[in-house]
Amino acid sequence: MGDTIFSKIIRREIPADIVHEDEDVLAFRDINGQAPTHILFIPRKPIATLNDLDADDALLIGKLVLAATAYAKAQGFAESGYRCVINCNEDGGQSVYHLHLHLLAGRRLSWPPG
Ligand code: 5GP
Repeated sequence: MGDTIFSKIIRREIPADIVHEDEDVLAFRDINGQAPTHILFIPRKPIATLNDLDADDALLIGKLVLAATAYAKAQGFAESGYRCVINCNEDGGQSVYHLHLHLLAGRRLSWPPG
């Protein structure tokens, strides 16, 4: 997988507003937030898309989701609600090819998405 802007954030080569990090996961504010809270949760491991996950990544993807839900609980909006999104490839709206989970909260989100 080629280098992406998110790999540069992991290596601290470009700045980001990091809100969580652990051995497997980094989370930082989206530069173009679409809700009052818009956080990107990424695995440190460079996986391009959902399609590139294999069985060995089951624990890692679980940790990614749990990092997001823990953040929602800690920030106090778990009960009011939030949305987690992973875009995949062009039709899914993916623009950065390092797997990431969007956590959106702080306003009523409409459905269906655009
Ligand atoms: P995607 O469209 O791939 O699902 O989401 C990529 C997200 O990364 C977009 O919401 C975009 O605003 C965000 N993004 C792109 N470049 C940067 C950056 O340099 N820093 C941060 N914090 N977010 C970025």
